[in-house]
Amino acid sequence: MERLVAKRSGKSYSARNQILRRMGFASYRSYLESGLWKSIRRRVLVRDRFLCRLCEAPAVLVHHVNYSWWALLGRDVACMYSMCVSCHAAVEFEGESKLSVRQARNRLRKLLRAKSERSDRDNVAAEYLSEQEEHMRSIRCR
Ligand SMILES: [Zn+2]
Repeated sequence: MERLVAKRSGKSYSARNQILRRMGFASYRSYLESGLWKSIRRRVLVRDRFLCRLCEAPAVLVHHVNYSWWALLGRDVACMYSMCVSCHAAVEFEGESKLSVRQARNRLRKLLRAKSERSDRDNVAAEYLSEQEEHMRSIRCR
């Protein structure tokens, strides 16, 4: 049952391949070589200013969180993330083995959460620093 649901919603690699075959692509590779994918990829990279969504290094690829019809057709690019090679490997692989679509999604969520917590901490640190600078200036001015 879960397998059927997964197939319909594009939540596994085999579901993705099935959808792609219905779209007329022999394989995921041929999809990645198509003009359709190239234009979707370009759109996502431009949206993300060609920066990795996890570390802000230059992005070279676009990661899919799911492979629904809408995503594969490029109607829904919200579930795609520009990434650098090393962050993408951290999201999709455990050592040599590729994670499932769901495992990769969970890992990406965790990394995005860690990133936003980091930036909250940085904001607190920046606020503290500017208060300190203000204090130093006021000492000097006295
Ligand atoms: Zn990165």
